[in-house]
Amino acid sequence: MTASAKSILIVEDEPTIAQILLDYLKKAGFAPFHLEDGRAALESIRRQPPDLVLLDLMLPGMDGLSVCSQVRTFSNVPIIMVTARVEEIDRLLGLEAGADDYICKPFSPREVVARVTAVLRRMAPSPSLLPQPALVEIDLEGQRISFGGKRLDLTPTEYRVLSLLAARPGRLFSRAQILDLAYPEDEDVSDRIVDSHIKNIRKKLAAILPEADVIHSVYGIGYRFEV
Ligand code: CA
Repeated sequence: MTASAKSILIVEDEPTIAQILLDYLKKAGFAPFHLEDGRAALESIRRQPPDLVLLDLMLPGMDGLSVCSQVRTFSNVPIIMVTARVEEIDRLLGLEAGADDYICKPFSPREVVARVTAVLRRMAPSPSLLPQPALVEIDLEGQRISFGGKRLDLTPTEYRVLSLLAARPGRLFSRAQILDLAYPEDEDVSDRIVDSHIKNIRKKLAAILPEADVIHSVYGIGYRFEV
């Protein structure tokens, strides 16, 4: 372990899985440590937040969802939820739980290392980009978005969708979440409409910067904005 090794808290009640994660993350240059229950994890994060938390959903006592939403009341530490329950993903990434990403069980340890690296990278400020003007500028008051220095001609719904995604780069939003924000009043809208809004937004972005592919689809789940 070096002084700069990122600390990763693994919250996992199955010792075999925990050991595999510990081994792989250590080999990848991280400083992982392990706790088996949610309450202990919450205390540990409160005392000294690690650089990232890998949080199992199904834990005895306090489950991962409760731990995550509790942590969010006092810390923005990156949290990756680990779950075998794909139908939970919406809630995990939802505003109430506030996880940053998720990994489905069964997973390959290599995938976990890749996800941890990716989440840490997008949380870290990248100094080389600072002097450049922002690629995306959101004018909340005027409800306008500029891309590559040019103002986008968006419909009000497209504005809501793009401002949601672009305000939290790297964060994955499910179709249902996007739909909730795009149509707060309307419950009868199909989530396919999200795909067509995204398609239109992509077209408008590409008209300004054809090579900038900034809205990424995550198969079966939703979308994330990433530069
Ligand atoms: Ca478990």
